[in-house]
Amino acid sequence: MTEISKYICLKEYVPVGMPKISNFELKTDEIKLTNEDEVMVLNKWISVDPYMRARMTEKKNYMEPFQIGKPMDGAAIGKVIKSNSKNYKEGDIVTSNLGWRDKFVTQGNNVKKIITNNMPLSSYLGPLGMTGHTAYIGLFKIGEIKKNQTILVSSAGGSVGSTVCQIAKMMDCKVIASTGSDEKVEWLKNELKVDHAFNYKKIENLVLHFKDVCPEGFDLYFDNVGGDFLESAIFRMKNFGKIIICGRISQMSATSAGSGLKNMAHVLVKRLTIKGFLIFDHENDTDDFQKDMKKWITEEKIKFKETVYEGIENTPKAFIDLLNGKNIGKMIVKI
Ligand code: NDP
Repeated sequence: MTEISKYICLKEYVPVGMPKISNFELKTDEIKLTNEDEVMVLNKWISVDPYMRARMTEKKNYMEPFQIGKPMDGAAIGKVIKSNSKNYKEGDIVTSNLGWRDKFVTQGNNVKKIITNNMPLSSYLGPLGMTGHTAYIGLFKIGEIKKNQTILVSSAGGSVGSTVCQIAKMMDCKVIASTGSDEKVEWLKNELKVDHAFNYKKIENLVLHFKDVCPEGFDLYFDNVGGDFLESAIFRMKNFGKIIICGRISQMSATSAGSGLKNMAHVLVKRLTIKGFLIFDHENDTDDFQKDMKKWITEEKIKFKETVYEGIENTPKAFIDLLNGKNIGKMIVKI
């Protein structure tokens, strides 16, 4: 029997600037199981993520651009509702990279069963998913975080950033957190117990602010935003400090390329290490992360918030609102 699948596709590429709802389109298709080993999955939760902005341009990046008029993709969690596969049965919970659609048919090897062990399903898109893994690998493997360091985190009220802040607190670090709303500042201070949180939109001179709140400077900077913020952080790094380049969200929808870093002399004189990474290179390094993160969530050492939009038709709005900072914690869509 056929079913109707609703999905979101891109109508046109958006080379610069903030995407608009009109750049997206909701379409439908008839789907059914035809071949052996196929499964039909009803998505329950869909992730929207900043990296998807880069896929909305024709420019070659580390991932292919989305195809115009075709279903967009991204992480999702769903339930198998029909199966021709001996490996899956109705009711199995699976992750896939087939987001931005409510239902789909695919070969069994395109989905992965998860045993949730009493963890909330949606946490597999947040702290137990790609963003938690990014925080973990970024801090331990790329930044080689040490106990009692002083660490600056940007976009700290988001999914990666809030996880970074909490892991760093567990390592007895002093955490300075930057975010874009007073509500997120309160959450970071009162619930996540960072040492100092501030709304960067209200700060006139970041370098002076850093000097005020953290005169000793930073050992580590976990950079989620790039641009002028990165330049300001470089001014306040300690000798031999490390900067983990995780994201560049301040540049992603910018309308001009900006002026570039003007203080590379500080990188030289302070002997800084600046290191970028992509979590996709660490897909086979998840065992310690899964084990630690499940334990930390169970022990409430890692707390997480979600901003939930409902309905496949609201996925473009969730994505645009994510880029505009309307999320606290992980932005997800409930189907
Ligand atoms: P977030 O939950 O942090 O959401 C994005 C946030 O970016 C918004 O909430 C907003 O918060 C902030 N933001 C938007 N515009 C600006 C700006 N101009 N200046 C400063 N902040 C801005 O997203 P994620 O946790 O999913 O991702 C965080 C970062 O990590 C992103 O840069 C992403 O690309 C990167 N990333 C990198 C990976 C890798 O493999 N290297 C993997 C996963 C994510 P605010 O209110 O603070 O402005």
